[in-house]
Amino acid sequence: MPFSDILGQEKASLYLKKLVGSQKIPGAFLFYGPDGVGKARTAVAFAQALNCLDPQARQTAEACGKCPSCRAISKGTYPDVIFVDFVYQARLEVKKDFSSKGYEEELEKEIAKQQHISVDTIREVTAKSQQKAVGSGWKVLIIDQAQTMQGAAANALLKFIEEPPCKTVWILITNKRAAMLKTILSRCQPLAFAPLSQENVKQILTQTGADVPNPDLCARYSGGSVSGALRAAAALELLQEGSFGSAQWPCAVAAGLSRTLVSARQEAQAVLDILIAALHRNWTHCPNEREQRVLQQTLKQFEYYKRSIGRNVSPALVLETALMNLDGLNVQIF
Ligand SMILES: [Zn+2]
Repeated sequence: MPFSDILGQEKASLYLKKLVGSQKIPGAFLFYGPDGVGKARTAVAFAQALNCLDPQARQTAEACGKCPSCRAISKGTYPDVIFVDFVYQARLEVKKDFSSKGYEEELEKEIAKQQHISVDTIREVTAKSQQKAVGSGWKVLIIDQAQTMQGAAANALLKFIEEPPCKTVWILITNKRAAMLKTILSRCQPLAFAPLSQENVKQILTQTGADVPNPDLCARYSGGSVSGALRAAAALELLQEGSFGSAQWPCAVAAGLSRTLVSARQEAQAVLDILIAALHRNWTHCPNEREQRVLQQTLKQFEYYKRSIGRNVSPALVLETALMNLDGLNVQIF
């Protein structure tokens, strides 16, 4: 995948292309910014540009996407490029052989359990970083969700990112730069990834063939992120349960939440995010002072509901109460 396929991150792409051209690459990067804006895709494009076998790639600093090296990196099978995330870590945990019956089910269960990039995973990948490269290009070690590394894992990584072997580069990816250890931050070259424009989100949804019924509306509620747009699509679908605005509507929407608590919490929060964005838009465009005060009060209540969902409260109950509070307000959601 060439950098030019990554929409909305032209500044980061241009910077990385210059580095590929010069072949003067820092030992470690920190790609930071919101989820769903292209950080991981850019890391993969960078790894491909550094390892592409097409002679043109040297001049253009763009991967061809077709040579054996580019194809293997896309598939995650190129031995010199390692992408560590919760899926990679879950695979290390599954005891079954990947070709055996029930492997996929067990892997799904392991993925759902993952909360931190562990010290064992870091030890496994740092050991690989010291092995001789298979190809003639660069060794690229990517760690997604880097903010979830706790003390032991972060400390196990420190000396490896400080002095990586020749033609070896680490890329740490995070959506919470502030949550990372200062000792890690000080050893990485930071590279910011900005939220995407609504237009970019819409284009990416269309290009990737995402199954969303209304890309325009989902992009509007996306918060500048593709994953945000997909979350919004599911939440908008929930809000269409029952008859919008009727007396039964709050109960029907709440009944549509998943049975498992973790998923129900995430879904309810996504619905509240949409309603907060809709209330906010109505509030800024409201010409009537009295109505504006009511909307402002409702917004405050909704922020409180959102915080409540994170606590030990039933997400369905909070959501139903929140939706009942919209009664009498002319809020444009769709
Ligand atoms: Zn290539």
